[in-house]
Amino acid sequence: MTNENTEHVKTYSYKEINIAMDSMRVMFDIVRLVDAEECREVSVSAEGELCFGKECYAVWNADHRCANCTSFQACHTHSKKTRVEYFNGKTFQIQSVPIILTLKDESPYCCNLELISFSDDAVEAAYHEEKTKWETSGYLSTHDTLTGILNWDGFCKGARNLISNNPEKKHLVISADVDNFRLVNTLFGNSKGNEVLIGIAKILEEMSGSTGVAGRCGGVNFALCIDEQDDLEKWLSELSSKVAELIYSPSFTLTMHFGIFDVENQNLPISIMYDRSYMALESIKTDESVFYAYFTDELLEKAVHEQKIINEFKSNLKSGQFIIYLQPQVTKEGVIEGAECLVRWCLPSGDILPPMEFIEILEQVGLIGSLDEYVWDLAAYQLSKWKGTEFDNLYLSVNVSPKDFYYLDIAEIFPSLCKKYDISPSKLHIEITETAIADEMSGNMATMEKLQANGFTVEIDDFGKGSSSLGLLKDLKADVLKIDMRFIQRCSDDDRSNVILESVIDMAKKLHMEVISEGIETKDQLNNLSELGCDVFQGFYFSRPIPVAAFEQYAKQRL
Ligand code: C2E
Ligand code: CA
Ligand code: CA
Repeated sequence: MTNENTEHVKTYSYKEINIAMDSMRVMFDIVRLVDAEECREVSVSAEGELCFGKECYAVWNADHRCANCTSFQACHTHSKKTRVEYFNGKTFQIQSVPIILTLKDESPYCCNLELISFSDDAVEAAYHEEKTKWETSGYLSTHDTLTGILNWDGFCKGARNLISNNPEKKHLVISADVDNFRLVNTLFGNSKGNEVLIGIAKILEEMSGSTGVAGRCGGVNFALCIDEQDDLEKWLSELSSKVAELIYSPSFTLTMHFGIFDVENQNLPISIMYDRSYMALESIKTDESVFYAYFTDELLEKAVHEQKIINEFKSNLKSGQFIIYLQPQVTKEGVIEGAECLVRWCLPSGDILPPMEFIEILEQVGLIGSLDEYVWDLAAYQLSKWKGTEFDNLYLSVNVSPKDFYYLDIAEIFPSLCKKYDISPSKLHIEITETAIADEMSGNMATMEKLQANGFTVEIDDFGKGSSSLGLLKDLKADVLKIDMRFIQRCSDDDRSNVILESVIDMAKKLHMEVISEGIETKDQLNNLSELGCDVFQGFYFSRPIPVAAFEQYAKQRL
């Protein structure tokens, strides 16, 4: 399973790693690469192929180097772990450093670089105490406590043994996810939920038989490694029917989705095989018309592209490649009130990437917060530059991703930005999407209220895009409602939508909210919405988002 939190982990290309390891051999007695999840040594050929070697404890036979071993811990905490192990009268000092190897096909592979020295400082007693601990926890380190089948590490080892011991056979690695499991817990209770997971585990173990391996990777994710099947669809259908029988309910059917990786290269790490099967699964997860999909090269290309975006983002966030474009917000008379800040990624090639090329990817891997914080800083800085100039009265409106609520202390960051740049909170408008509020009503709502109490203007962005809009109006205490452009564009040619729009604007007014319409492209839309009572407009009809200098030119004539 690829670890997400890889921010501080050094990356080596397959060309660099052997050279780097050779240079380290001057200082250490043993330098090797270890796959902590499979507990095995790995090496990389000059051509960039991975090769799996012996189990990693074999060098000095520290009997149970698994769940508690240095590599495992270093891999999962992304830290350098040093420990001392004792064998055959010698003490080994092991440093385990997590790294990312970029393989020949550019896919990233997480493993550990182990730097081992022999030393005479025996800490034998401590070693034996720990060893006993490992031995007693041996079963737990490879088995899932709820279902009793293999856990992730157990599965990795089991699958590797299966593949290595039967090199002449073709194998499949399959990931399996239960759909809507939250509903199972909600409808039937948590203990039924657990019962179902145990039931699924049993079915998977039975179906994979004596020649296959089944494991639970956590939550509702299961993994299988089985022989190639004559009729895989039939095999999976049979499995799905057995799973469906675990719940008898006229209103709910228990279903699963499967992703399949055809093991052609037996030397790929099991974690990569599983990741690829999971990529296939993810591509159909929300599609009810199919229940399984094979991994394809296109999926890999997409993943590699996403990884590139992530790597480039990490190394370039603070290097000036990210800038803000401003899109004016004007009254119906054309007077400019402020602007929305929309981020742009200016590549060294001169190309400018629009946010839809990277925002979603950054949201998925939990990096959006660092981008947003940076953009908010740019906006606050811009406001400070406008102080005492003709643009002094303009506000800037910034976007807050729903994910920011998890990673950032939003209620704290905005006031400290105002302090840092000595600007008034009233100049910073904060756009929060309807989904952020709908998903986690209470916590996020409280954050919004704190911001309002501190003088910030809170806007609900993309209103009308989600499904729960009208109900939400009742609970929202935002200052501004921004009506989503798709909603507005639908209304141009649909009377019924127009009626709804009118009522929404009317309701917002009665709730003392200002209404901004976005995506205004035509004069007709402008006239229609201003008749319906909308106060402020944003859209290509007035201006596209433009660089700050161009915005200043635009604004000069409309203040
Ligand atoms: P959004 O917040 O709904 O921003 C409005 C988007 O609509 C902008 O796209 C803008 O260029 C586009 N737009 C404005 N007027 C019109 C129009 O008349 N017609 C059409 N067809 N489109 C119009 P952009 O700049 O590509 O941004 C897309 C989305 O990316 C934004 O949607 C927002 O959700 C997100 N985004 C942009 N900057 C940031 C940021 O700094 N942080 C976060 N978290 N998200 C951002
Ligand atoms: Ca917005
Ligand atoms: Ca919007």
